[in-house]
Amino acid sequence: MSDRWNDLADRLLAGARLERAEALAMLGATDAETLPMLQAIARLRERHHGRRVRLHVLLNAKSGMCPEDCGFCSQSSVAAGPVDRYPLLTVEEMVESARAARAAGGWKFCIVTSTRGPGDLELARICEAVRRIKAEIPIRVCTSLGLLKPGQAAMLKAAGVDRFNHNLETAERRFGEICTTHSYEDRVETVRLVHEHGMESCCGGIVGMGEGDGDIADLCFALRDLDVSSIPVNFLNPRPGTSLEGANGLTPWRCLRVLAMFRAAHPAKDVRVAGGREVNLRSLQPLALLVGNSIFTNGYLTTPGQGEDADRRMIRDMGYEIEVEEGPAPAGAAPRDVAIRV
Ligand code: SF4
Repeated sequence: MSDRWNDLADRLLAGARLERAEALAMLGATDAETLPMLQAIARLRERHHGRRVRLHVLLNAKSGMCPEDCGFCSQSSVAAGPVDRYPLLTVEEMVESARAARAAGGWKFCIVTSTRGPGDLELARICEAVRRIKAEIPIRVCTSLGLLKPGQAAMLKAAGVDRFNHNLETAERRFGEICTTHSYEDRVETVRLVHEHGMESCCGGIVGMGEGDGDIADLCFALRDLDVSSIPVNFLNPRPGTSLEGANGLTPWRCLRVLAMFRAAHPAKDVRVAGGREVNLRSLQPLALLVGNSIFTNGYLTTPGQGEDADRRMIRDMGYEIEVEEGPAPAGAAPRDVAIRV
């Protein structure tokens, strides 16, 4: 059994690309086959990321009241559940949150707003915050501000944004079942703009929304075709009052197979064990680090996580190290990475 996955890992380590049939075989494996699969695919993680774990810290900088109708999202104006509603934070609040993220060992700080796309005044304020963060705090900066126009992407790049998040969410075939106010192609176009303007892309999706194995494979390979830099793999944590309130059906072992498949298809990329980690992987969540090299810490946009201390303990208990930047990067220079013991 383990020979099968070790043979696959050998081929991938030798430079082969994961094929669709192999992806489907991984997703369709039994629970008993999954631990040997993780151990084999962990060799790819170790090749490209050693035993380092990147901590990403999210800031929900503008919450609720979003005009879009993404079925998983409690911040949509069509969702009926309870959610915080507040306008864009001040520059000072965003800078102080970045400082706290760095103090928590954050490798990347991500400013997120609930929106179809940024308005002019919001974008100007976020760019000012990013300039301050880049000048004062040694942490990479990501923004997630919805759909972008070319001039907006240029402004973010000029302000110093390293990476822009915009997920494809699900397979193209299913996108219209999840969201009707914008299209899959709209999302792809924003990812292309991010690349054209010299930023890294953070682009992944959510599993547990009623999709089949073929849909997960389609999403995974669409991300490979786009050559995205970073892949957050979210697991649906159904929110009250959303149209996906009753969805999910994930098990911890299925989540682990999904993560292993994403690593196998994207050996060198930043594959993140993202939202829904705690509630879906439950007691098996440490095993996700065998194939994923990054996590969100200190919770998500609208739901709490297990907390920074528990995340650090989990990383330490698994024998991994937190990856951080060392000191402010001079303007124009690539930041240096170091691994620290937790
Ligand atoms: S665009 Fe973003 S904030 Fe708005 S409903 Fe969709 S996921 Fe939620």
